[in-house]
Amino acid sequence: MATQQTFSIIKPNAVSKNVIGPIIQKFEENSLKVAAAKLVVLSKAKCEEFYAEHKERPFFGELVSFMTSGPVLLMVLSGENAVLKNREIMGATNPAEAAEGTIRKLFGDSVGENAVHGSDSEESANREISLFFEKNEIVNS
Ligand code: ADP
Ligand code: MG
Repeated sequence: MATQQTFSIIKPNAVSKNVIGPIIQKFEENSLKVAAAKLVVLSKAKCEEFYAEHKERPFFGELVSFMTSGPVLLMVLSGENAVLKNREIMGATNPAEAAEGTIRKLFGDSVGENAVHGSDSEESANREISLFFEKNEIVNS
Protein backbone atom coordinates (compact mmCIF):
# COMPACT_ATOMS: atom_id res chain seq x y z
CA MET A 1 0.00 0.00 0.00
CA ALA A 2 1.17 3.51 -0.76
CA THR A 3 2.06 6.06 1.90
CA GLN A 4 -1.06 7.37 3.56
CA GLN A 5 -1.81 10.26 5.93
CA THR A 6 -3.95 10.14 9.04
CA PHE A 7 -4.99 12.68 11.64
CA SER A 8 -4.08 12.29 15.31
CA ILE A 9 -4.86 14.29 18.44
CA ILE A 10 -3.08 13.89 21.77
CA LYS A 11 -5.99 14.77 24.05
CA PRO A 12 -5.91 17.14 27.08
CA ASN A 13 -5.54 14.40 29.71
CA ALA A 14 -2.40 13.04 28.02
CA VAL A 15 -0.89 16.49 27.41
CA SER A 16 -1.42 17.38 31.09
CA LYS A 17 0.17 14.08 32.18
CA ASN A 18 3.31 15.05 30.20
CA VAL A 19 3.24 11.98 27.96
CA ILE A 20 3.43 13.62 24.53
CA GLY A 21 6.92 12.13 24.17
CA PRO A 22 6.07 8.49 24.92
CA ILE A 23 3.00 8.69 22.67
CA ILE A 24 4.97 10.04 19.71
CA GLN A 25 7.60 7.37 20.39
CA LYS A 26 4.90 4.70 19.88
CA PHE A 27 4.10 6.18 16.46
CA GLU A 28 7.77 6.40 15.49
CA GLU A 29 8.53 2.86 16.67
CA ASN A 30 5.78 1.70 14.31
CA SER A 31 7.16 3.63 11.32
CA LEU A 32 4.64 6.47 11.39
CA LYS A 33 6.22 9.89 10.86
CA VAL A 34 5.02 13.23 12.20
CA ALA A 35 4.28 15.23 9.04
CA ALA A 36 2.69 18.24 10.81
CA ALA A 37 2.04 19.25 14.40
CA LYS A 38 0.57 22.11 16.42
CA LEU A 39 -0.26 22.54 20.09
CA VAL A 40 -3.52 24.45 20.54
CA VAL A 41 -6.54 24.89 22.79
CA LEU A 42 -9.55 24.07 20.60
CA SER A 43 -12.48 26.48 20.46
CA LYS A 44 -15.92 25.05 21.26
CA ALA A 45 -17.11 25.80 17.72
CA LYS A 46 -14.17 24.08 16.03
CA CYS A 47 -14.42 21.09 18.36
CA GLU A 48 -18.15 20.71 17.66
CA GLU A 49 -17.45 20.85 13.92
CA PHE A 50 -14.72 18.24 14.27
CA TYR A 51 -16.97 15.85 16.25
CA ALA A 52 -20.16 16.67 14.25
CA GLU A 53 -20.84 12.97 13.57
CA HIS A 54 -21.34 12.47 17.34
CA LYS A 55 -23.62 15.44 18.01
CA GLU A 56 -26.66 13.27 18.81
CA ARG A 57 -24.73 11.00 21.18
CA PRO A 58 -25.45 11.38 24.92
CA PHE A 59 -21.79 12.07 25.67
CA PHE A 60 -21.38 14.89 23.10
CA GLY A 61 -21.48 17.77 25.63
CA GLU A 62 -19.03 16.01 27.93
CA LEU A 63 -16.74 15.20 24.97
CA VAL A 64 -16.60 18.82 23.74
CA SER A 65 -16.11 20.12 27.27
CA PHE A 66 -13.20 17.71 27.83
CA MET A 67 -11.57 18.33 24.44
CA THR A 68 -11.60 22.12 24.97
CA SER A 69 -10.41 21.91 28.61
CA GLY A 70 -6.70 22.30 27.84
CA PRO A 71 -4.03 22.07 25.16
CA VAL A 72 -4.13 19.29 22.58
CA LEU A 73 -1.45 18.29 20.09
CA LEU A 74 -2.87 18.08 16.56
CA MET A 75 -0.80 15.99 14.17
CA VAL A 76 -0.70 14.59 10.68
CA LEU A 77 0.98 11.17 10.71
CA SER A 78 2.23 9.58 7.52
CA GLY A 79 3.35 6.08 6.61
CA GLU A 80 2.32 2.80 5.02
CA ASN A 81 -1.31 2.04 5.83
CA ALA A 82 -1.27 4.93 8.33
CA VAL A 83 -5.01 5.06 9.09
CA LEU A 84 -5.33 1.43 10.17
CA LYS A 85 -1.87 1.27 11.72
CA ASN A 86 -2.63 4.28 13.91
CA ARG A 87 -5.90 2.71 15.09
CA GLU A 88 -4.00 -0.44 16.05
CA ILE A 89 -1.34 1.49 17.97
CA MET A 90 -4.08 3.50 19.75
CA GLY A 91 -6.13 0.51 20.93
CA ALA A 92 -9.86 0.23 21.66
CA THR A 93 -11.94 3.33 22.49
CA ASN A 94 -12.37 2.16 26.09
CA PRO A 95 -8.91 1.90 27.71
CA ALA A 96 -10.20 -0.95 29.90
CA GLU A 97 -10.75 -2.98 26.72
CA ALA A 98 -7.59 -1.87 24.90
CA ALA A 99 -4.83 -4.39 24.19
CA GLU A 100 -1.65 -4.39 26.27
CA GLY A 101 0.95 -1.94 25.01
CA THR A 102 -1.50 0.27 23.14
CA ILE A 103 -1.55 4.03 23.80
CA ARG A 104 -5.04 3.96 25.29
CA LYS A 105 -4.16 1.06 27.59
CA LEU A 106 -1.01 2.85 28.75
CA PHE A 107 -2.26 6.43 29.00
CA GLY A 108 -6.09 6.45 28.82
CA ASP A 109 -8.03 7.32 31.98
CA SER A 110 -11.59 6.46 30.89
CA VAL A 111 -13.69 5.87 27.76
CA GLY A 112 -13.98 9.65 27.35
CA GLU A 113 -10.48 10.64 28.44
CA ASN A 114 -8.75 8.05 26.31
CA ALA A 115 -5.53 9.96 25.49
CA VAL A 116 -5.69 10.03 21.69
CA HIS A 117 -7.91 10.50 18.66
CA GLY A 118 -7.20 8.82 15.34
CA SER A 119 -9.09 8.97 12.03
CA ASP A 120 -11.23 5.90 11.33
CA SER A 121 -10.92 5.94 7.51
CA GLU A 122 -9.02 7.67 4.72
CA GLU A 123 -12.09 9.79 4.03
CA SER A 124 -12.26 10.93 7.68
CA ALA A 125 -8.52 11.57 7.66
CA ASN A 126 -8.81 13.90 4.67
CA ARG A 127 -11.71 15.81 6.24
CA GLU A 128 -10.02 16.09 9.64
CA ILE A 129 -6.61 17.10 8.27
CA SER A 130 -8.13 19.86 6.15
CA LEU A 131 -10.08 21.18 9.17
CA PHE A 132 -6.83 21.93 11.01
CA PHE A 133 -3.93 22.15 8.55
CA GLU A 134 -3.17 24.06 5.38
CA LYS A 135 -1.44 22.05 2.64
CA ASN A 136 1.75 24.09 3.08
CA GLU A 137 1.93 23.14 6.80
CA ILE A 138 2.35 19.43 6.01
CA VAL A 139 5.73 18.01 5.00
CA ASN A 140 5.75 15.19 2.50
CA SER A 141 9.19 13.68 3.00
P1 ADP B 1 -12.88 6.49 18.70
O1 ADP B 1 -12.20 7.73 19.28
O2 ADP B 1 -12.22 5.21 19.16
O3 ADP B 1 -13.00 6.55 17.19
P2 ADP B 1 -15.71 7.13 18.83
O4 ADP B 1 -15.55 7.74 17.48
O5 ADP B 1 -16.81 6.13 19.03
O6 ADP B 1 -14.35 6.43 19.31
O7 ADP B 1 -15.95 8.27 19.91
C1 ADP B 1 -15.26 9.49 19.83
C2 ADP B 1 -14.80 9.88 21.22
O8 ADP B 1 -15.92 10.12 22.05
C3 ADP B 1 -14.00 8.81 21.97
O9 ADP B 1 -12.63 8.76 21.61
C4 ADP B 1 -14.20 9.23 23.41
O10 ADP B 1 -13.34 10.33 23.76
C5 ADP B 1 -15.64 9.73 23.39
N1 ADP B 1 -16.57 8.67 23.79
C6 ADP B 1 -16.93 7.57 23.05
N2 ADP B 1 -17.81 6.81 23.72
C7 ADP B 1 -18.02 7.42 24.91
C8 ADP B 1 -18.82 7.14 26.05
N3 ADP B 1 -19.60 6.05 26.11
N4 ADP B 1 -18.79 7.99 27.10
C9 ADP B 1 -18.02 9.12 27.06
N5 ADP B 1 -17.23 9.46 26.01
C10 ADP B 1 -17.23 8.63 24.96
MG1 MG C 1 -14.13 7.82 15.99
